[in-house]
Amino acid sequence: MLQVKMSERAWCVNCGAQAPELFRRYSETVLKLVKCQKCGHVADKYVEYEPVIVLIDLVLLSKEACRHILLNGDFSCHWKLAILIFLLDGYRGHAVARAPAPEPPPRESSRLFESFDLFDISPEMCFYLTYLHAFLSCLVYVVVVLLLVAVMMPSRPPMMLVWKSIVLAGCSTFLMIPALMCGNPHLYWSLVVVYWFIAQVFVLHVACGTSKLLSALVVLAAALAKCHLLEGIWSPTPC
Ligand SMILES: [Zn+2]
Repeated sequence: MLQVKMSERAWCVNCGAQAPELFRRYSETVLKLVKCQKCGHVADKYVEYEPVIVLIDLVLLSKEACRHILLNGDFSCHWKLAILIFLLDGYRGHAVARAPAPEPPPRESSRLFESFDLFDISPEMCFYLTYLHAFLSCLVYVVVVLLLVAVMMPSRPPMMLVWKSIVLAGCSTFLMIPALMCGNPHLYWSLVVVYWFIAQVFVLHVACGTSKLLSALVVLAAALAKCHLLEGIWSPTPC
């Protein structure tokens, strides 16, 4: 059973309505799930499920599983997950820089800090710069999403909820681990990116209660900013 936060606010994972409680406990081992007063379904069936079942449903983009984790679950490990995602993203960038690739085309000298390339950067420094670049890219994405949600979404969801949504969907980056372990960071990377985009749109749509189109626009704008805004200023030298 996944740990459920003990707060005054609980939500039906089926319709998103607020519920007075998720279950009633009759003894140490006996509890009864409460039905939603709005839709009539069990407010949160995942209270009795094992975490692995919830995670499988989440990978399959179940709206109920997503609501359970974000709204009813004790999702307090979001900071740790964010650090893991950042480290994995940085390692992927480093692996891509080291992997044999076709000769890149000559660069346009439009970057603000092109002078970085003029220095003879050691492999160790290159490693740290790659991670710094990954961190700044993630930061750009998060900031743009938070700004666009605050401006464009009339429901004005709490910023912490949006942050948790970004982290939860960002866990799709872990799908890259098998490709990184076999030493081929390019392997099915495009598939991971597509799934990452769909997951971001889906989780934002569920958490904020907005249309999928609006969520897609926000994610697309933030992803473009992540890819091009920072690239236009600085890109680490290939190691
Ligand atoms: Zn309901």
